Amino acid sequence: MTVPRSELPLCSARRLLICAALIVAVMLDRAPVAAQSQSPDARLVTLGTGGGPLLRTERAQSANLLIFPEGLVAVDLGQGAISRLTQAGHRPDDIKAVLLTHHHIDHVADLWSFILHRWASRAEPMTIVGPTGTKDLVEGLLRASRPIVEASEALANGIRPIEASVEVLEMNDRNSRLALPGFPSVMVTAAENSHLAAGQAGLTNSAPVSLGYRIDTPSRSFLFTGDTGPSMELERLGQNVDVVIGEVVDVEAAMRAAEQSLKLPEAARRTLAQRMGTGHMTPAQLGALARVIGANTLVVSHITPSTAPPSDDEDERLTSDIARQFSGRIVVARDLMTF
Ligand SMILES: [Zn+2]
Repeated sequence: MTVPRSELPLCSARRLLICAALIVAVMLDRAPVAAQSQSPDARLVTLGTGGGPLLRTERAQSANLLIFPEGLVAVDLGQGAISRLTQAGHRPDDIKAVLLTHHHIDHVADLWSFILHRWASRAEPMTIVGPTGTKDLVEGLLRASRPIVEASEALANGIRPIEASVEVLEMNDRNSRLALPGFPSVMVTAAENSHLAAGQAGLTNSAPVSLGYRIDTPSRSFLFTGDTGPSMELERLGQNVDVVIGEVVDVEAAMRAAEQSLKLPEAARRTLAQRMGTGHMTPAQLGALARVIGANTLVVSHITPSTAPPSDDEDERLTSDIARQFSGRIVVARDLMTF
């Protein structure tokens, strides 16, 4: 930085130390401002890019990592998330907060393991943010942890009770916006998407809720669609964000894969097919969402079924379908990409 001449005290030999101290004080006084305006961009790491309930070796289930100057935040923790986090050079106790979009297996499967590992490594308490029902989910996991805690007597000597290792904040109509605890520059806004909305096959008004999250920082904004069909709420939530992290499902291929891997009775198969058709997005629908909200970059994730290893062919097919609707930057994500 430069200090205007008019602000520089006239330095004599006697005053040299005082002058130096004043100049340093001016620099120190301004340093935080410079650091804030030039704070490193928030970074996104795709930990898991596959949708469930399928299990694959090449794609972990849905999980993302946000790296802010204040610390690390995970968005969903599907199966394989902890392994990918480790591969990315981090540990569960590095994570200060987890945002859950909804309570399907492919978004929460690693949450229990995550809570246990953080407790055992005596990490500071973590915030878990999620839709209504998240408190019930976490309380159940903590109850289920008791036998593990009791069996870990040596490890647990002097440790914080596992019940005190997490704090849960539910987001809903009455609480749709919050400053993430410990992250003064990170604002989280949630809206219900259409994944589990009333009116979907077999779902009523008392059905569980699925959320999309908008995350704003001083330098960058993100929209995590969560699993969803087309949604006016998401279009409103995401206006002018920089980066959209969105999901795609090839419904017919996903149903074929589900029929091979799950033992679905006919009634369940019909319901799942209906839900797949209305509660997820095709590439064209995802592209239309990114266009309507005016995003710069679209990160395509939760790729379902994606039963073959990720390939350039798959990337090109998805990209060309999306590009008919969206002219911005499109990246078909693979696990452990950094943005
Ligand atoms: Zn999913």
